[in-house]
Order: sequence, then C-alpha cells, then structure tokens
Amino acid sequence: MHRFFVPADWLTGGNVTVSGALVHQMRRVLRLRAGEPVIFLDNSGWEVEAEILSLDDQTVEAVVRRKGLGTGEPRTKITLYQSLLKGDHFSQVLDQCTQLGVVEFIPVVSERCIVADAGEASARYNRWQRIILEAAEQSHRSKLPIVRPAVLLAAVLESAKGRGLSLMPWEDEHTATVKAALAPPPLPSPAPSPEAGKGRRDRQTPRPRRPFAINLFMGPEGGFTSTEVAIARQYGVIPVTLGPRILRAETAGPVAAAIILYELGDMG
Ligand code: SAH
Repeated sequence: MHRFFVPADWLTGGNVTVSGALVHQMRRVLRLRAGEPVIFLDNSGWEVEAEILSLDDQTVEAVVRRKGLGTGEPRTKITLYQSLLKGDHFSQVLDQCTQLGVVEFIPVVSERCIVADAGEASARYNRWQRIILEAAEQSHRSKLPIVRPAVLLAAVLESAKGRGLSLMPWEDEHTATVKAALAPPPLPSPAPSPEAGKGRRDRQTPRPRRPFAINLFMGPEGGFTSTEVAIARQYGVIPVTLGPRILRAETAGPVAAAIILYELGDMG
C-alpha cells in the first residue's frame, strides 16, 4: 500500500482531500485508481488508511477507513552527527539511515571536511528533506527524521552532552566495541549499611537500564583527527571500533546505526 506524508490538517475529518504536487504523483506516476487503499501520515506517529473515491487534475478525494498507531518507529532514538561528505555521499547516508530508523541528523563540520561541502550544505537542504521523505515513506516510518542546520564539531559536543550515550566510531580505536558500550551497566553491589535489609527500599534497587538515546558521531572521508577524538572524550564521547576493515565514510554511518539498532533489539 502506498504511503504519503501529508499536512496534519488534511487528516482531521472523515474525508481527505489531496491537492498540490501529490495529485500528479498519485494519479500520473503511481496510476492509482478509485477504490484503491492508501495510507496517509501526518508525522505524529498515527497512520490513516483511506480509500480513494475520485481523482482529477486538481484533487484526489479519499475516505478514511481506519486509523492506527504506526509500528515503524524504533524505541532506540539515534541522533546521527554526520561529518559532511563529498559529492552526494551525505544524501546516501540520509537515505539509508532514514530507512534504518535514525530519528535526527546533525550535519557536522569537522577538521577534515572539505570547506566547499559546508557551503553547499544549506543549498542542499531542500533536497535532503525530499530524500528523507521518500525514504521514510517507503520504509514504513510514521515520523520523519529531523535534519538540523550544519554545525561545527566543537560547538555540538557540548549540546550532545546529557542527551544520551555518545559513541564515536574511530578507525584507530581497536579494543572498545559498540556491544560493550551499549551493555547495561553492572548491578551495583549492595553497599553494607546499617539500614540494610530493614526496609522495602533496599530490595527495590532499580535495575540498570540499557541506553535508548544515542548520539553517533561519524567522521568525514579523512576521518577525525586525534585532537578531535581527544576533545570528544572530554565531553564523555566513547570512541569505538567497527572492526578491522576501514569502511568508506558513507558506509560507516549506516553500518554503525544498524549495529546499534540490532544490539538494542530494534531490528528484529
Ligand atoms: N581516513 C581514514 C578512514 C576514515 S573512514 C583512513 O584512511 O584511515 C571515515 C569514518 O568512518 C571514520 O571517521 C569513522 O567514523 C568511520 N569508520 C570507518 N571504518 C571504521 C572502523 N573500522 N572502525 C571505526 N570507525 C570506522
């Protein structure tokens, strides 16, 4: 069933009236016909299943049949801090990571980024939004990932602090693994206290939880410099390895996102 993100105010009643560019896509590109079911999404997490009633040059009319909560959003919320990449590689990362379930993208300017890429970032913003929209529709997401404006690595480290667990895949890290970084912290050993065993509270020590908000920092083609990694460490970022093979920058982000989502149970 085809899925379309539409403005939220289109989905407030029992009927949906589609207008604008989507009419052409539904009628001419996808050749949808009256009687066919489609799904409309308003980016709230809800999905509206509707049946097409009629199509003309200006509008598509549909009647709502069912409304339900989408199931495509992962429990793990990954924010990808992706250094800007050459050519169209940043778009590839957006496309693949949207399919995988990343919820937020922050384009990062790090030391070895090509400066021209940073300048082009704002010009590409609309294209990036379109790529994300198409990837989200086809991969059954019910919320669109957010793309933020590009920022300097040094500036963003501060704001990532306190927003979850921060990981930085780094090709010169050979021992710290993603699996170990994501493992729940060990249960605290019971502290000997004169109160021990007296009240219910002692027996109800909360179990350590696995992280669910992850900040993932990925380098550009040339990687992060060791100074950048050292500064990141000071902000609590954990450098991790993705194994002995060096992945291309545009491969590494999707691979790291997939490993994290799998490890935390969000990929089946
Ligand atoms: N310029 C480096 C490779 C950079 S790879 C070199 O030639 O040695 C680009 C980015 O992908 C890196 O900044 C890192 O974030 C990630 N990456 C690629 N392979 C990796 C690996 N095996 N372990 C950890 N990170 C990796």
